[in-house]
Amino acid sequence: MDKALLRNIPKVDELLAPVRALCPNASSAAVTAAVRRTLDALRESVLSGEAPEIPETAALCALAADAVRRAETPSLRPVINATGVVLHTNLGRARLSGRAAKAAADAAEHYSTLEYDVESGGRGSRNAHVEALLCRLTGAESALVVNNNAAAVLLLLTALTAGGEVVVSRGELVEIGGSFRVPEIMSACGATLREVGTTNKTRAADYAAAIGEHTRALMKVHTSNYRIVGFTESASREELAALAHSRGLPFFEDLGSGSLFDLEAFGIHGEPTLQGSVRAGADAVTCSGDKLLGGPQAGILVGKKSCLDVLKRHPLLRALRVDKMTLAALEATLRAYADGSAASTLPTLAMLAASTEELRAQARTLCEKLTERGISAEVLAEEDAVGGGSVPAQTLPGFAAAVTPRHCRMDELAERLRQRETPVVARIAHERLLLCLRTLRPEEYDELVRAVAESDR
Ligand SMILES: *Cc1c(COP(=O)(O)O)cnc(C)c1O
Repeated sequence: MDKALLRNIPKVDELLAPVRALCPNASSAAVTAAVRRTLDALRESVLSGEAPEIPETAALCALAADAVRRAETPSLRPVINATGVVLHTNLGRARLSGRAAKAAADAAEHYSTLEYDVESGGRGSRNAHVEALLCRLTGAESALVVNNNAAAVLLLLTALTAGGEVVVSRGELVEIGGSFRVPEIMSACGATLREVGTTNKTRAADYAAAIGEHTRALMKVHTSNYRIVGFTESASREELAALAHSRGLPFFEDLGSGSLFDLEAFGIHGEPTLQGSVRAGADAVTCSGDKLLGGPQAGILVGKKSCLDVLKRHPLLRALRVDKMTLAALEATLRAYADGSAASTLPTLAMLAASTEELRAQARTLCEKLTERGISAEVLAEEDAVGGGSVPAQTLPGFAAAVTPRHCRMDELAERLRQRETPVVARIAHERLLLCLRTLRPEEYDELVRAVAESDR
């Protein structure tokens, strides 16, 4: 260890002014902390013999300025989603409409009517902001909103089936990413799962044979992230509702991705709607707010008043309740369905509806911009996905700008793009970096081109 080297390390005070000049928007506390950390790290490496010399002061200032920028960058921040996966669970699922985002921001920034009834000047109900809308849109008698769909299922089973049996098909014992498994959630709720049928075939008669004195409900779970195809059979929701009611039992359905919009219009098949399940006679239906519905994270329950009234009085509800920002965003999202503007204003629906012609034209525009910056890119037809555990086994025909890096390896390019202040998440396929147009916005193209140009080095 070299004592002279240690003495040559500059003092904190010497670096403060130049680093502050490099980061004019940072607080002086952040600058001081970053300079300290940079010099401490240098001292460590001198002591361990790793640093043979002290870098120039200008180089140390640049290091400290980088440390300031890293420390000031929010951990939870926007990313550019170039994966073509519309409901990317790791990237936050549904993107809100401008109207829903503004409603959430307004609720956050101001006092609100959250639990205040302006008519009476007394206490109101937080559920009232969305209940009437949900009932109108789905035809249900009653509605309730909780933190997410897992919470909706938890509340439903705990309040109405604890201590008894719930009959579910063996073909529907779903696991959703993040450890939500139907059998386990059921035992956590104090109910016993009564499996019926086989993996590929379950008939109404199988459910009927399983009903006994301990049965509390029949339940259908939407196989939202897989499909059983081939030699298959399942009981329809109409049959199950009729069977349950004939035996004095309720019929529940966990729709998972549940939609309010008939996605057949976009060529997406087999996604049930909330209103379809209500019409079929379900006593309680649950779904997520941030999957195909295109709203904030929430668990939506709609159904018969007799069932939902029990949930509304249950003590667990307080632990699962949603906050004002979520309610404001959900109300704005539901209003878009009510006034007919959902397909054009909700980003999720608009992205699912995008035509191949539009996507191809956008891919051309993006490729031109990339080529102008000296990047090798070409238009490529590529399949996109709905994602979020929705619509398995169906892809959407899409288009990508396929980039071939000139100066680095593919994985280096992808890593540098990910590690930017605004991370770019892309897909690697066919030995190219794919920027998929379905999930990109034209406002993002310039930043995207800059990101690729700066990362291909
Ligand atoms: C997604 C999903 C859930 C979990 O919903 P969250 O809103 O993520 O809690 C539960 N059941 C099914 C069938 C699902 O698809």
